[in-house]
Amino acid sequence: MKKAVLVDYYYCTGCHTCEIACAVSHDLPTEQAGVVLNHIGPWESSRGPWQDDYLPFWTKNCDLCQGGQAAHDGTPMCVHHCQAQCIKMGEVDELARELAERPNQALYLIEA
Ligand code: SF4
Ligand code: SF4
Repeated sequence: MKKAVLVDYYYCTGCHTCEIACAVSHDLPTEQAGVVLNHIGPWESSRGPWQDDYLPFWTKNCDLCQGGQAAHDGTPMCVHHCQAQCIKMGEVDELARELAERPNQALYLIEA
């Protein structure tokens, strides 16, 4: 089964903790971590509401915390440290079903 990450960015606060947790645990610069945060906006959309979202992006440096780099309970560092609890890792088929349930989410297939 292929592994994937589902992020519910509606709840992402833009705190950068996932990025820093990955960078520190993998000895990487924060801008090259396994997850890098993007800020889209703020600007006023022509459709009415403001565009102002934070979107974590999983990079090629994500190794799914293999090799003893996960948290003490085995959870990947980014998942473990996200206080908004808006990151899930698991099987792609299962997460794809969750993706279909509501907007403001993104699904990444991870090859580690
Ligand atoms: S799963 Fe591990 S390696 Fe991948 S982004 Fe999260 S902390 Fe980094
Ligand atoms: S730790 Fe969670 S809330 Fe903070 S930036 Fe990352 S995904 Fe968003």
